[in-house]
Amino acid sequence: MHLRVAGIEPESVVDGPGVRFVVFLQGCGHHCHGCHNKQTWNKTGGYEMTTGEIFRAVRQKELISGVTFSGGEPLDQARELAQLAEMLKHTGYNLWCYTGYTWEEAQGNPVLPYLDVLVDGPFMESEKSLDLLFRGSRNQRLIDVQESLKAGEVVLFKP
Ligand code: SF4
Repeated sequence: MHLRVAGIEPESVVDGPGVRFVVFLQGCGHHCHGCHNKQTWNKTGGYEMTTGEIFRAVRQKELISGVTFSGGEPLDQARELAQLAEMLKHTGYNLWCYTGYTWEEAQGNPVLPYLDVLVDGPFMESEKSLDLLFRGSRNQRLIDVQESLKAGEVVLFKP
């Protein structure tokens, strides 16, 4: 399966805890005012990689503590991303995902069962703060996905 990606950052320290491998997915229809990644909006931009190619690129990095999906809108490539997330989860990686959808809107997305943390909601310039950990605006939540799925309601991740 192919994913359309905007780019890859093999060693990031700003997209979740520790040093993380980040996959930026291409294509986003949220068009948040103040978005810093407008080059990722075009659904036909970027380039294609197979899930296997990305998986092997992650495996080559020995010292990472997890993998983060960012964008663009990762959850719009749900079927393909779920396959990659399943491969990574079963290999033991901690998985974070940024999305412009709220937790409620993302229910039923096949990527969710493989995630540890979902950072949800669109970036809102009116709620922007530089003091927030791993998120850009106050409306966004760091959600403990596994605990939330179990509880049937949002359980916040405690860093
Ligand atoms: S969801 Fe993210 S990539 Fe998409 S417009 Fe909003 S800030 Fe930009």
